[in-house]
Amino acid sequence: MPQPIAFPTPDKAVYQNSFVDTLRGDASLDNSPRQVPGYHYSRTAPTPVADPHLLAWSEEMAAFLGLAKPAERGPGAAVLAGNLVTETMKPFAARYGGHQFGNWAGQLGDGRAMSLGELTATDGTPWELQLKGAGPTPYSRRADGRAVLRSSVREFLCSEAMYHLGVPTTRALSLAATGDQVVRDMFYDGNARPEPGAVVARVAPTFVRFGSFQLLAALGEIDNLQALADYVITRYFPELGAPSPEVYVRWFAEVSRRTAVMVAHWQSVGFVHGVLNTDNMSILGLTIDYGPYGWLEPFDPDWTPNTTDFGGRRYAFGQQPRIGLWNLMALAQALGPLLPDPQALRPLLDEYAATFNATYRQLMARKLGLATFAAPDHALLEALPAALQTAEADLTLFFRGLSEAVPALLQEDDDALDTLLAAACYIEPGSAAHVPLRAWLVQYAGRLRQETAAPEVIQEGMLAANPKYVLRNYLAQQAIEAAEAGDLAPLHRLQQVLKTPFTEQPGHDDLAAKRPEWARTKPGSATLSCSS
Ligand code: AMP
Ligand code: MG
Repeated sequence: MPQPIAFPTPDKAVYQNSFVDTLRGDASLDNSPRQVPGYHYSRTAPTPVADPHLLAWSEEMAAFLGLAKPAERGPGAAVLAGNLVTETMKPFAARYGGHQFGNWAGQLGDGRAMSLGELTATDGTPWELQLKGAGPTPYSRRADGRAVLRSSVREFLCSEAMYHLGVPTTRALSLAATGDQVVRDMFYDGNARPEPGAVVARVAPTFVRFGSFQLLAALGEIDNLQALADYVITRYFPELGAPSPEVYVRWFAEVSRRTAVMVAHWQSVGFVHGVLNTDNMSILGLTIDYGPYGWLEPFDPDWTPNTTDFGGRRYAFGQQPRIGLWNLMALAQALGPLLPDPQALRPLLDEYAATFNATYRQLMARKLGLATFAAPDHALLEALPAALQTAEADLTLFFRGLSEAVPALLQEDDDALDTLLAAACYIEPGSAAHVPLRAWLVQYAGRLRQETAAPEVIQEGMLAANPKYVLRNYLAQQAIEAAEAGDLAPLHRLQQVLKTPFTEQPGHDDLAAKRPEWARTKPGSATLSCSS
C-alpha cells in the first residue's frame, strides 16, 4: 500500500524563485523608500512582528498547493506573518507603476506586499506566495508597509468567496495576526486610531499587473519591458508559443479576453472592485487587490463603497466594463514599443467589448434559466437594470428568488410575483416603484414558458447559477468587529458558508437576508476608503 503523502507546512515547503532568478533585481535589501530605476523588483526582508499567530486558513487552497496547516503559533505561522524566511525563499517586492483615478502616478510598486517564493501546486502549476502587510519596502513611499485586521479579513474572505462563486481571482491561503498595532485614519478625517495588524498570505500564479509594464514603458526601460513580457508569456501563456512580435499581439488579445470575462463575472454577481487603477489589474485577468470593494445590495449602477471615489464615481458598478477597456488601452500603449507597429494592438480592443457582451449574456442567460439567448431576449435583459434600480431590488435576493419561483412562474401564479418582490426589494411592497419590475417579471415568465426543458431542470440550473450567499458588506463588517474583539467564530462561519454559495445551508439563512436598515449608511458596511 502506498503511504499517503504528508504535505509540508509552509516553513518546510520548498520554494522556487523564477521571478527573482529570471528578471532584474536590486539585491541591496535596503528598505528605505526610493525610486528603483532599471529593476523589475527589489529583494526585501519582511519585518518581524511581536506575536505572529494564525487566525484563519483556507483548506482548499492549501490542499491544492500541497501544504499542511501549521499550528496556531510556531514556525509555520511565523512564515505566514513574515517572521521567518526559510532557506529556499528569496523574498522580493515588485516594481510597478500605474494610472490612479485616470492620472499617471509614476512608480508605485509593492509598498506592503512581499512575495516569498513560488510553490508548485499539486497539478504541477506554479503559484506565488505573497504576504500583504509584512513591513516596508523601497516602494512604501510615506506609508508603513502594514495592513490592519479589518482590511485583511476583507481580502481573505472575499477572494476565497469569489473563487467559490466561479469568478477569476487571486486566492488567500491564510490570515495571521501580528500582535502589533497599526495606526490608521480610516476616513482620512483626522481621527487616526490604533488598530490590530494582520497579514494575509495570498496566492496567484503571478501578481504581475498592467502597471508593471506601464512603468517600464514610461521610463524607456525597453529591455526590461521585453524581459518582463517574455517571462510572463513563457511561464504563464506557454500555449501562445515562443515570444515574438506576433505572439505579443496574440498575448494582448488573450489578456483582453480574460479581462472581459472577469468584468462580465463582476457585473453578473454585483461585485464592485472600488479601485480599478491600472496597478490593480492582473495580467492574468484575475480580480486582484481587494480594498474598498463592495457587493451591490439595492441595485444601482452608480454605487461604489469607496469614499475616495465619491466625487467622480469613476469606479462605480456600472462603470466597470468601460474602465476595463480604458485600462487595456493603457496596457496597449505600454506594449507598443515591443511591436514594429506600435498601433497594432488598437484594433484588438474591439474584441474586449465583443467578449464582454458575449460572456455577460451567457452568464445572464444561465441566471435567467434560458437555454438559448435570441434577439428578443436582449431587449428583456436590457430592460432589467432600470426596473431593478427603481424597485431597489437586491441583486442576489432577486435572482435567487427568481430561481425559487420557477414552478410558480411557469404556472402563471401571480401571487408569486408579489412574494418575490417583497422578499427582494428594499422599497416596501405596494409601492409604485415595484411596477416596472413586476411588469418585467410578467414578461419574463412568458419567455420562461417557451423553454422546452422540464421545470425541475430549469430550476436546478438556475439555483446553480444564482448564489444564495455572498459576502454582504455588513456581514464582513460584523465578522471584523467580532475578530477585533477576539471572537473568530463569525469569521470562520462566513468562510465556511461561502465555500458553497449555491447550496442551501440550514441554520445559516440569516447570512442570506436583506441588508438590515442600520447597515444602509454604516461606515465599513456602506462606506470604505483606501486607508487599510
Ligand atoms: P492600493 O490602493 O492598495 O492598490 O495601493 C496603491 C499603492 O500604495 C501600492 O503601491 C501599495 O503598495 C501602496 N500602499 C498602500 N498601502 C500601503 C501601506 N500601508 N504601506 C506601504 N505602501 C502602501
Ligand atoms: Mg494595489
